Formats: sequence, C-alpha cells, structure tokens
Amino acid sequence: MAQFRNFKMVSYVVYGRGSFNQLDEILSPNRKAGAPMIFLIDHFFINKPLLNRIPLRGNDKIIFADVTHEPKTSYVDALATQLKNEFGTISGVIGIGGGSAMDLAKAVSLMMNNPGSSADYQGWDLVKNAGVYKAGIPTLSGTGAEVSRTTVLTGPLKKLGMNSDFTPFDQIVLDPELCANAPANQRFYTGMDCYIHCIESLQGTYLNEFSKSYGEKALELCQEIFLKKETWDEECDDKLMMASYAGGMSIAYSQVGVAHAVSYGLSYLLGIRHGIGNCIVMNHLEEYYPEGVAEFKRMVQQGNFEIPAGICKGLNDEQFEAMINVSMGMKPLWENALGKDWEKIMTREKLRALYEKL
Ligand code: NAD
Ligand code: ZN
Repeated sequence: MAQFRNFKMVSYVVYGRGSFNQLDEILSPNRKAGAPMIFLIDHFFINKPLLNRIPLRGNDKIIFADVTHEPKTSYVDALATQLKNEFGTISGVIGIGGGSAMDLAKAVSLMMNNPGSSADYQGWDLVKNAGVYKAGIPTLSGTGAEVSRTTVLTGPLKKLGMNSDFTPFDQIVLDPELCANAPANQRFYTGMDCYIHCIESLQGTYLNEFSKSYGEKALELCQEIFLKKETWDEECDDKLMMASYAGGMSIAYSQVGVAHAVSYGLSYLLGIRHGIGNCIVMNHLEEYYPEGVAEFKRMVQQGNFEIPAGICKGLNDEQFEAMINVSMGMKPLWENALGKDWEKIMTREKLRALYEKL
C-alpha cells in the first residue's frame, strides 16, 4: 500500500503590508502568566525603527540573533540554556529575520522542552516533545523556512535539520514591508533559493499535483519579479513573499534536488551561505536542469548580479572527499532529482568533477 505523507503545517498565517502591527493582539492569547515572550531578532535590526514596534509586555525580552554564520547547534543550545536559567519557562519565541533567525527561533523553541543538545535531534522525527509557542516573521523572502518542517543547523558532525512535526511555526506573520531595506544582492541570492526550489521540485521525480500547483505559481511569481520588472518595487516584495511561501509548500510534498545536495557540501566545508551557495552550483547544472539554468542565467544578467566562481580552486583531496560525503548523504534529494537509480548516475567521480568546476 502506498504511504502518503501526512504533514503538519503552520497553524496560523497573516499576510499583508502592515500586518506586523497585529502582533500584540496575535500573541496575547498565547501568553502564560509570568512567562515572557522572547523576540529573537536578526542583528541587522539593532538600532532600527522596527524595535520600537515590538509589542513588549511584562518581562518580555529581545535577543539579537547573531547571523554572521548560519545557525549552529552550539548557538541554539546556548540560547535555550540562557533562557532556562533566566526564566525557567517562557511563553514563546518569535523569530524575526531571514531564514537564519527563523530557524534559530524554531530550534530554540524545541530545545526549551527537549533534553540534551539540539545536535541529538538532527535528522528525521527525532524530536520527542512539542516546543514552546513559536512564531516566524520573515524580513527576507525566499528560503521557505517560514513554512517548512525543518530548521537547518550545523552541528559537530553534520549539517542537517531538526525535521519533525513539532518544527513548523504556530504562527507566521507575512508583512512584505519588513523586507524594504534588504540589500539587492542578498535579496537576489535568497530569492534565487526560492526559484531553485521551484525548478528542483517541478523537475523532480517526487512531483505530484499538490507540489506542482504551488511550484508553478511560485515559479511564475519569480519570473515576474526577476525577468519582467525593470526596477525593484513594493509589488516585488509582495510577490516574493508569496513565492517563498508557495515554493516552501511545493517542496513540503516533494523535495529539493541537485543544487541543494551539492550546495550543502560547500556550506559544510567552506561555510558558504545557503542562497549564494545554491546560485554558485545552479550556474553549472545545465546537464540536469537545462531550461531552469538558462532562465537562471537570464535573471542573473538582468539584475547585473555576480555569481562567484573558482571557489573550489586549491582544495585538496581530503576536502573534496568531505564535500562529496556530505552531498552523497542527502539521499532523498538525489533520489528526487535523478530517480531510484541515482547512485548509478551521480558517481563520486562525477560529483568531484562538478565540485572542481565551481
Ligand atoms: P539569512 O537569514 O542568513 O540572512 C542573510 C543576511 O541578510 C544577514 O546578514 C541578515 O542580517 C540580513 N538581513 C535579513 N533581513 C534583512 C533585511 N530586511 N534588511 C537587511 N538585511 C537583512 O538569509 P536567508 O537567505 O533568508 O536564510 C538562509 C538561512 O536559511 C540558512 O541558514 C539556511 O540554512 C536556512 N534555510 C532554512 C530552510 C528551512 O526550511 N528551514 C530552507 C532554506 C534555507
Ligand atoms: Zn533552499
């Protein structure tokens, strides 16, 4: 009998310019007496006007998330320990920022109610208990972290998410106004993460009508934003926020593919960020996604962006092996991209040759 995934989704969603103003009202029924709400805010917002709009009550606390590097298990553990020591229990964690700040908020929420280290839960369905209430508020669109059932963490041994039914947010606030000041380059790289989710989902073997419906819409929005628009405007932020959401919904019922599988190796060894890493790889994937890569290159050209090259020059055999191991470990991604016999198609030699091109 076929087994269909029965997946947990975000419980509440509010969308619209200015919807952030409803945050106080939204959080209010989720507050527990004496237990604070913790606002985990991307450090970009230090001294920014957004801070005056955070609905602080009682002993609520703002913590600035250091997202210089993508989230590590050690950082998640330190934040959860700090909160347990300071407050015992908390009402919830509100993650405000890009994929990194949102993933940190999800992970900290889970670690408030699960023993040990977040590294113990890197994998699929290892989390034992529901976390505290958690809300995600994106200020950068593309990753789909706002809807996903994972939180991507770099641990001592691996880069892998805490994938579980306890991971999705209880609430997301999609207010495109919050993306207004994102730098053009960053916005593009994270936006391309969404574009690449669409291509990998739509060209994958796991595709079904559910994934396709969301994937096609997200792809259409990306094409409108990155090919048809001359200059960036509010409508682009509105559309990219919905593209990110729909792209995330698309991969919820399928999987990502080659660009992500290869990019994970780059990120693990070289610390290259998710969005830009995916772009570096996508630039060389004509063999797997011919139309998608051609269109991606037109988007890069239209915006006059630069995709770094030559990043694997000078690496030694051991380093290539490390990247290949991480990448080959992403089995569901390869299977989605290349089918059940993927190991016959993507050999270690072939993957090495691909890394050498990057
Ligand atoms: P990010 O969160 O790492 O942020 C990138 C940079 O943009 C940071 O310097 C940040 O301070 C800055 N920034 C964020 N919002 C801004 C704004 N409004 N104005 C100006 N600067 C702003 O970038 P990202 O691409 O959104 O997220 C990448 C992270 O998301 C990675 O850690 C990746 O592993 C994770 N990810 C998670 C999932 C998931 O499903 N959980 C999916 C894809 C990626
Ligand atoms: Zn991605």
